[in-house]
Amino acid sequence: MAEWVDVIVVGGGQAGLAVSHELGAFGVEHLVLERGRVGQTWRDRWHSFCLVTPNSTVQLPGGAYAGDDPDGYMARDEIVRHLEEYAASFAAPVREGVEVTALGAAAEGGFRLSTSHGELHAGAVVVCTGAYQRPYRSAGATAPPGLLLLDAEGYCNEASLPPGKVLVVGSGQTGCQLAEELRQAGRDVVLACGRAPWAPRRVGGRDIFHWTLDVGLFDETLADLSSPAARLIGNIQATGHGGGHDLHYRVLQQIGVALVGRLLEVEGGRAHFANDLAASVAFGDVRYNDIRRRIVELCARRGVEAPEMPDPPPFDVEAPESIDLSGFGAIIFTSGFRPDYASWIQFDAFDEMGFPIQKDGASTVVAGLHFCGVHFLRTRKSSLLVGVGEDAAIVARRIADGHSRSGRGDGLTVARPSSQRPPERE
Ligand SMILES: Cc1cc2nc3c(=O)[nH]c(=O)nc-3n(C[C@H](O)[C@H](O)[C@H](O)COP(=O)(O)OP(=O)(O)OC[C@H]3O[C@@H](n4cnc5c(N)ncnc54)[C@H](O)[C@@H]3O)c2cc1C
Repeated sequence: MAEWVDVIVVGGGQAGLAVSHELGAFGVEHLVLERGRVGQTWRDRWHSFCLVTPNSTVQLPGGAYAGDDPDGYMARDEIVRHLEEYAASFAAPVREGVEVTALGAAAEGGFRLSTSHGELHAGAVVVCTGAYQRPYRSAGATAPPGLLLLDAEGYCNEASLPPGKVLVVGSGQTGCQLAEELRQAGRDVVLACGRAPWAPRRVGGRDIFHWTLDVGLFDETLADLSSPAARLIGNIQATGHGGGHDLHYRVLQQIGVALVGRLLEVEGGRAHFANDLAASVAFGDVRYNDIRRRIVELCARRGVEAPEMPDPPPFDVEAPESIDLSGFGAIIFTSGFRPDYASWIQFDAFDEMGFPIQKDGASTVVAGLHFCGVHFLRTRKSSLLVGVGEDAAIVARRIADGHSRSGRGDGLTVARPSSQRPPERE
């Protein structure tokens, strides 16, 4: 007979651990299944990776950052250590090395999870498999023979790339950081740019992330966006490297990265780009001006003087629309992510973009199915270290309420089978 667990959490990243912490606080029996090790996604990031948000924004429930560098940006291994210590601090019931390969309905009610280590059944499931699941390669993602083509997930460091110039496709935080790292290592770098917001790293001596939290940017919901697709637009271009500094198109141009428009196609040994670099820069400037306006309005409401935020400096938009790829060693795609739930979850519970159809993390299609850590699950900060805890508490409370309404193990989607119930207490 398959093992029964009242609640199974799939994924042992920050979202899965935060949900586990909160379920534990409500006394709900549960298990976290993690295909790799705790914090596996962070472990898999490139060698020099560090946070873009300051350390003080690590606000996991019972696991807030308490170190001596709240304004710094933890490096990859420090983030992993933080998550490991967090899991240990409340003895999170994590089974590492267990991949859930399919999630469907069990014949007797509840959920059936096929895993790399056998089958489990559960009364409720919380899917925490990551905000950024499947790397998305934009159109034209082919390469002439001999040229290495990889996603950011496959990039370790500059030395691991073949010699030659590098084309980076996608200019969110990741693309800008890789372009800077490669340029500083002496590579000739071409960055195919898209639309992304930018802002100075610090405004009035304070990290931009704190300002954007204060003005409510991260409390915005999907309904506040111009369209559901707008949730795919990247976060503000910036970096935490070297203590944190500005990192946007103007900075990259200054250090010698060649900026071009969106990649259209690779054909006949040449890469072709749209004539839209000026439009992408203008898009970022509009976003910067919007953030600037919101900060000025906030300061006015608080009755304090607004910090200085200069106009965007001039930008040279001259860019080739086609380049010869001979002399290039690699093309790195950093053009975003798409959800990947439908490949293993056997319920028709996702919208046309592949995001869960849900309210406050609870599927509105399948009772007992929950999500946490999804980009814009509730707000813009749902997928971030600063916001995931708030959502985890809401998801856990809902499960705990269902759990306690009608006694142990039931009130989820299905009662624990009688053969697996512990004996009643006297
Ligand atoms: C490049 C990059 C930089 C970022 N920088 C920041 C930052 O500076 N600050 C910030 O707050 N946020 C940042 N984020 C966003 C976010 O905090 C991270 O993406 C974070 O990893 C999300 O945590 P999570 O727990 O939701 O997902 P993940 O960390 O992706 O955890 C999901 C876990 O689920 C496991 N898993 C997946 N599928 C299965 C399965 N079928 N069975 C079992 N286990 C499974 C994975 O192995 C993984 O460990 C960044 C994101 C990216 C992509």
